[in-house]
Amino acid sequence: MNSYSQKYYSGSKFKRSISKNTLEVINPSNLRVLGSIAIQNKTEINKVISNLKKGQFKWKKLSALERSKELHNVANRIDNSNLRELAKTMSQEVGKPITEAYGEIANVSSAIRYFAEMARNEAGNIAGTTQSESLQMETKEPMGISAHILPFNFPILIMIWTVAASLAAGNSVIIKPSEQASFTSLIFMKFFNQLSANVVSCLTGDATTGKAIIDHKDVNIVSFTGSAETAKKVYQSCAENFKPCHLEGGGSDYMIISDKTDIDFAATAAITSSFHLSGQICTSTEHILVHSKIYNKFKRALTKKLNALRVGDGLKKNELGPLSTEAAFNKAKNIINDAANKGALITCHKDSDHIESLKGYFICPAIIEKTKSNMLCEKDEMFAPFVTIEPYIKISEAVKKVNKSQFGLGFNMITKDLEEAHYVSRNIETGLVWINNPLIDNDALPFGGLKKSGIGRELGKMGLDAFRQTKMVIIDNEQKIHEWWYPYSEKQFRT
Ligand code: NAD
Repeated sequence: MNSYSQKYYSGSKFKRSISKNTLEVINPSNLRVLGSIAIQNKTEINKVISNLKKGQFKWKKLSALERSKELHNVANRIDNSNLRELAKTMSQEVGKPITEAYGEIANVSSAIRYFAEMARNEAGNIAGTTQSESLQMETKEPMGISAHILPFNFPILIMIWTVAASLAAGNSVIIKPSEQASFTSLIFMKFFNQLSANVVSCLTGDATTGKAIIDHKDVNIVSFTGSAETAKKVYQSCAENFKPCHLEGGGSDYMIISDKTDIDFAATAAITSSFHLSGQICTSTEHILVHSKIYNKFKRALTKKLNALRVGDGLKKNELGPLSTEAAFNKAKNIINDAANKGALITCHKDSDHIESLKGYFICPAIIEKTKSNMLCEKDEMFAPFVTIEPYIKISEAVKKVNKSQFGLGFNMITKDLEEAHYVSRNIETGLVWINNPLIDNDALPFGGLKKSGIGRELGKMGLDAFRQTKMVIIDNEQKIHEWWYPYSEKQFRT
C-alpha cells in the first residue's frame, strides 16, 4: 500500500482523511493495486479552505521580494533532491516511462524561478495622466484562493505552471490532482513545507471533489486542465458561481509534412510527436498531412520507426508505456475497431501479438490511413498511440483542413522552406505553432489553445496575470476642486 494512501496535504503537513469514500489506484503496467485515495468531502474542503484563507492573508502582506525568495527556496530544494521516489511513483501511477518522468520534473524548477522573478518585475502600470499632478495607474493584486483541477498526464509540470504563478501573485492554492496521479502530487507537496504561510493544499478526490472545490464561496478563481468535455462542465460550474476561470482543454493536433524536407528527419519528428507518452499528450500529433510527392517514402520511414519502438513497463527500457486507465484502454480499442470496421487501412506495430498479451493497459501503436469523417479517429481527440496519415497536394488545402478542426491547441509543420513556414504560421488557427521542433514549450511564452482547446493562457506574463486582479487607482495628493464639480457655474449650464 502506498504510504500516501488516503492522505491529503494542508497546513504544511500530511493528514489522514476522515472520508470513508475511497478509490483504488491501479498500476496500468501490471494492474496491481498501488493504494487508495480518499474522495474528500465538503467537511474537509471547508476546513482546508478556511486555513488557506488565513494563510493567504499573511502571504499577500509579504513583499514581492520575500515571496520570491521563498519560491526560489522551493526550486532550490527540488534541484537538490533525490527525485527517485517521485519519478518512480509517477511511472507506476500514470504508466509514464521513468525517463520521461525525470524529464518532466527537470522542467519544474525553472518555471517556479520564472514566476518568482516575474512577479517582482512589475505590479501594474502607470498611465499618462488626464489631469496634471494626478497619479493614475492600474495595480495588480492577488485574487485570494485559486483552485487547480489537474489532469493525469503531466501531474507535476502542469500543476506548477499555474501553482507557481498563483503563489507568486500572492494567492493561496488548493490543488485537486487527477485520481490517477494523486500519490505523485502528494509526494511533491513536501517541497512546499518550508513556506512561511499555509498557502498550499492538496486534496484528493474525483469529479465531486473538483465540483465542491469550484463551488466553495471562498475560492476566487479556477484553473482547469483536462479534457474538453470536463472543461465544459467546469465552465458551467464557474458560470453558476460567477467565478473567473481559465481552461486548458484537449486537442487533436495536426502536422503538415512538406515535400521540402529530409524524410528521416520528418519521420523521427512525427514518431516522437505522435507516440510520446503513448499519444497521451494534449499536443500529441494525431493527424499527419503529407505532401503527395513523398507520401510513400514517408510512410515507409514512419512504419520502420513505429516498429522500432519498445512497448512495456515504464520502469524498464521502453519508449511506450500503457494507457493510463481501463477507460482509456477501452476507448482506444473502440477507436481502432471502429476504423477497421469502416474500411480504414491500419498498420500496427510488428509485435502486436506480444503487446496485446501484456498484462496492463497496453495497446498496439498504429498508423491509420484512408480514414473517413464518420470514423471516431477523425471525430474527437484520440489520446492513444495512433496517428492518421493522408496525402495533400496544395499547402493551402492542407491548412484549410487543419483549420476545420473543432480544436485549436497545437500545430506542427516540417519543412525546409522558409516561405512555407511563414505562410502556415500566419494562417493556422491554433494557440501553438511549431516548425521543425515538436512538443517544446518555454516558461516565458504563453501556452494554450483556441476553440474547444481552451480559454486563457498558462506561462508567460499572461500566465501570471491570470491570477491577479486589476484595480484602477487615481491618487491626487493635493485637494483641488475641479472645474466640473458641483455646483455648476452659469457658464457651464447647457439647456
Ligand atoms: P479529465 O478531464 O478526465 O480530468 C481532469 C480533472 O478534472 C481531474 O482532476 C478530474 O477529477 C476533474 N474533474 C472531472 N470532472 C469534473 C467536474 N465535473 N468538475 C470538476 N472537476 C472535474 O482529464 P484527464 O483524463 O485527467 O486528462 C487528459 C485530458 O487533459 C486530455 O483531453 C488532454 O488533452 C487534456 N490536457 C490538456 C492540456 C492543455 O494544456 N490544454 C494539458 C494536459 C492535458
